[in-house]
Amino acid sequence: MHTPTDRHKSRRGFLASALSTGLATAGGARGHASHLAADKAYIAITLDLEMSRHYPTWDQMHWDYEKGNLDAPTKRYAVEAARRVKAQGGVIHFFAVGQTMEQEDVGWLKDIVAQGHPVGNHSYDHVNIKAKRASDIQFRFQRAPWLIEGKSPAEVIAGNIRLAESALKERIGIAPAGFRTPGGFSDGLADRPDLQSLLMEMGYTWVSSKYPAHPIGTVGQPPDRQVLSAIVAAQAQAQPFVYPSGLIEVPMSPISDVGAFRNGRWPVGAFLEAIKSGVTWAIEERAVFCFLGHPSCLVVTDPAFRTIELMCDLVRAAGDRAAIADLGTIARRAKGTSRL
Ligand SMILES: [Zn+2]
Repeated sequence: MHTPTDRHKSRRGFLASALSTGLATAGGARGHASHLAADKAYIAITLDLEMSRHYPTWDQMHWDYEKGNLDAPTKRYAVEAARRVKAQGGVIHFFAVGQTMEQEDVGWLKDIVAQGHPVGNHSYDHVNIKAKRASDIQFRFQRAPWLIEGKSPAEVIAGNIRLAESALKERIGIAPAGFRTPGGFSDGLADRPDLQSLLMEMGYTWVSSKYPAHPIGTVGQPPDRQVLSAIVAAQAQAQPFVYPSGLIEVPMSPISDVGAFRNGRWPVGAFLEAIKSGVTWAIEERAVFCFLGHPSCLVVTDPAFRTIELMCDLVRAAGDRAAIADLGTIARRAKGTSRL
């Protein structure tokens, strides 16, 4: 049986062993605001507002060129998800692509913001920020290379991040709540100190770019025990930390909806089981679980909002051992400060 002291020690042991740099030590956070309490799990529900290849039907490919041109069901799903989580006293952390602000109606997104849900920057065109060649930046620029003619990939990428900021500011009236890289990287930005510096120069204190590697099993078949336990094991690699540059990383926790449904062709029951295992692990360890979903995928695969309700239920059942948190709160605890 665990005494509180044993539990505390084992968590400290986990933090020390699982993380090489800078995750908020329990001691670092303890001296600050109680809502950053080290002895609490933080569950983030994050939704990326973009269209997804193969959804709503498998033949759909053109979203690769129009990631931000959200269809009505996707927007409705985002709004209803926000309403449900708010009703539980939590927030969803959304990430938007700037292109969405070109749509005629952005009232739905303004409403989401008015309810207190943070919206971060996901670049303007969903660009690969690690691209070194123009052809690797984004499908749109493969088809229409004249849009970026005369610019280096680094200039296009920095410009694309800034353009999304302008779009959010002018159309929604907000500064972005952090930056999430389009596509996750198993090593985050560890290999790209130049990109860490770029984001910090732009004023970002944290980034969400890391998505740890994990198996998905045989495509088209539900995952077996081994796959599910490998996904739970990967949660330790999805904990926040601070890069040597000072930029904070808030990783995405496997498995994402797109990973399970598009890549693995899993049934929804298997996805729910994987999410439940990951969240339960985080609650036991007083760690972080950062759910990554896409309304464009979930509206087809989980139209009844079972995944979001499941996470809310697990947090509620955990009482004061867990809370739904936005990524800014998680980043502050990772840095051991109540302000960034
Ligand atoms: Zn994305």
